[in-house]
Amino acid sequence: MPNVLVQLERFVMSNYNWCHNPNCHKVETQSRVRGSGPNKVLRTRKIKVNYPNEHPNVWDYFCNQSCLFGFINHFLNEMVNINPVRKPSETPVKITTHTFDMGYRQGQTYKTIKVVDND
Ligand SMILES: [Zn+2]
Repeated sequence: MPNVLVQLERFVMSNYNWCHNPNCHKVETQSRVRGSGPNKVLRTRKIKVNYPNEHPNVWDYFCNQSCLFGFINHFLNEMVNINPVRKPSETPVKITTHTFDMGYRQGQTYKTIKVVDND
């Protein structure tokens, strides 16, 4: 029976993350204030993870855009070094020119871009 409680606790715990911005706890908002009497603190925001089994969502790790971009600015070098891009990539495409055969643009041309499958 205690094993069931441990599993339940893990399940409940896994539905929350702490905001990953290292400075989240320094932002002066009422929503971050914790503690009683004179012993108050600003605490990192806790984030509810709504669909933990779905594909990862950036908002499961950051409480708002400000914290997300604060994190990016703080860890920019580490982030770009995870997958460095040293040359441009290219995707083969086929460009086709079409002509509108009706409507107010009749006779005018437009182009479509289609990715060419090289498989
Ligand atoms: Zn935050």
